[in-house]
Amino acid sequence: MKKIILFLVLIFVFAALIPNLLPEGTSNSLYAYFLYVINFIAQNYFIFILGFIVLIIIFFRFIKFDKNYSLKKNYFLSIFQIVSLLLTAFFISYVVLLVIAIIELNVFSILININPKILGIVTDKNIIIKALKINNYPPKITANEGEGNTEPLRVSGVITGTNSFYGCYVLPSIPNFIIWPTRKSDSSTMLIDNTLIISKLNPVDLQEISPTIAYSLIQNYFPNRRIKSYPKISIMKYDDYLKYRAVDFKNGKIKIDGEIENYKKQIAAVSQLINDEENKISNNKNILEKSGLEYKNCLSNGNYSLLYCKNLLNNFNLESLNSQINNLNTKLVTDQNKLKDDNDYYDFYVGLGESLQSAQGGIPREFGTFIPKDVIRIAFNTEDSSHTIADYLETLLHEYLHYSSYVSDDRKLDDVFFEEGLTEYFARQIIKDDLNVSTNIGYPVSAKIFQQMTKRILESELADVYFSKDQAGLETLLDRVYGQNFYNDTRLAFLNLQYSSNPNQVLMIANGVMKKIGGDPLSEKDLLSTN
Ligand SMILES: [Zn+2]
Repeated sequence: MKKIILFLVLIFVFAALIPNLLPEGTSNSLYAYFLYVINFIAQNYFIFILGFIVLIIIFFRFIKFDKNYSLKKNYFLSIFQIVSLLLTAFFISYVVLLVIAIIELNVFSILININPKILGIVTDKNIIIKALKINNYPPKITANEGEGNTEPLRVSGVITGTNSFYGCYVLPSIPNFIIWPTRKSDSSTMLIDNTLIISKLNPVDLQEISPTIAYSLIQNYFPNRRIKSYPKISIMKYDDYLKYRAVDFKNGKIKIDGEIENYKKQIAAVSQLINDEENKISNNKNILEKSGLEYKNCLSNGNYSLLYCKNLLNNFNLESLNSQINNLNTKLVTDQNKLKDDNDYYDFYVGLGESLQSAQGGIPREFGTFIPKDVIRIAFNTEDSSHTIADYLETLLHEYLHYSSYVSDDRKLDDVFFEEGLTEYFARQIIKDDLNVSTNIGYPVSAKIFQQMTKRILESELADVYFSKDQAGLETLLDRVYGQNFYNDTRLAFLNLQYSSNPNQVLMIANGVMKKIGGDPLSEKDLLSTN
């Protein structure tokens, strides 16, 4: 009997150590273990049924039940025995797993204290950077942000793996106080195998290690493109960042005033054109009317022949007059449309200027900035604990994408909406791929619009346009997918989405765009930069 229990315990412990499908939606490790074991039995039901039959046969032959018992009762008792065997093995194996985890965590903790190299842990920043550069695949990044002594847990997570039940549920369930405390290491990052554990956002370390991390993540995401390396990355304090934004805002205001002036001039010019065209048309019409009148008079006057009157009419060159009127009418329609567009843009920029005035500096939408052609500055809010390592990496990738896709000051995408929206979209995809977390910091609305666009446009096509800053290509691509003139007709909406700070307005415009590109409407919570 003991041997059978031991055997079952070994099977269950083994099952918990191999990578397998894990139960979800529960944080209670015992309950999760129960679900896991049931699932494991179901996965291998054939072997378990076979074992079950063998056990029943063994029980029938070797265990002496009371001779007076009926066969049915013997059979029932055997099943009862087997079920209790399974239950016992279940509880014992759970305890065994806990004991293994406690031992492992303590051993690792002690080893980290004595010499982390024994565990293959690299803490030297320069060696880490070197190792990352040699690998042509990006590191797996784990954030060690928990409270207390979480280092042994992260290390064992890497060494044992987190895709088994043991690594995913048992190790994290061990309470801190029964683990030997590790000395606080001065290094904010460590590398084990190909896993980079970042324990704290230390500006000095991050500054040095960030270019390599960002490069390898982005190069891995776009394997067929040559990604530029390396920019100068500096971390700026949050206050400096706000100051920078204020300057940025002033520049933005100047730009807006320039646009307003621009459209004012264009409106005046187009209005003049329209005026001229209308005058010419009415002139031509007058001449036509006059010719008709003279022809009529000629006919009613008996002294002239029909031929003479027709000749008179020919002098007016009617055909040319009519074709002129037609051409002028076509031009008039075009110019009137242009005037309407110009007026819309004019109103938009005036409104934008006013809303900026009241926003006093505007809302920061990204926590970093790229200064052409190779400087990246990232704002860093150490006081705000909600600013996580994933958020930092997301900002880093966002700025690095600006850097690596920068062509020249003259060659850019015309609309900031596309530059920022695509940058943010790609940054989020990369973070999701590598860290397995979703972030939602900058440009939440545009990121969602691009998510929708990739349902009908290949990501690689968007990337082609993005990395070559091919404005004409972008317009052709969008018009091809969403219909003729889509880009021009939607441009004002893109502009509004980029700059408007009125949530109701943004939502309305965003949903107008979503409708055009076949997406579901967004709700108010989609506007927020939160997770
Ligand atoms: Zn940006």
